[in-house]
Amino acid sequence: MAYQIACPACGSEALDPRRSQSECSACHQHFVVTAHCPECDEVLERVQACGAVDFFCNHCNNLVSKRAARYDLRPA
Ligand SMILES: [Zn+2]
Ligand SMILES: [Zn+2]
Repeated sequence: MAYQIACPACGSEALDPRRSQSECSACHQHFVVTAHCPECDEVLERVQACGAVDFFCNHCNNLVSKRAARYDLRPA
């Protein structure tokens, strides 16, 4: 099962952080998903490697895992 993040509207862990826009599968609201570096708070770039998407911080020059990233969710 893919890692999912909590929906700010209904609290269900139903948003896909791999997409820049994600729909909550529980309440069907759409959100713009922005990932931030846990170290420096810069916006992370999405990178694809072998189908698994993680993030890259251009500021720290580091890969950041989906679980480590901090997410900013805004209604789309
Ligand atoms: Zn929801
Ligand atoms: Zn960083």
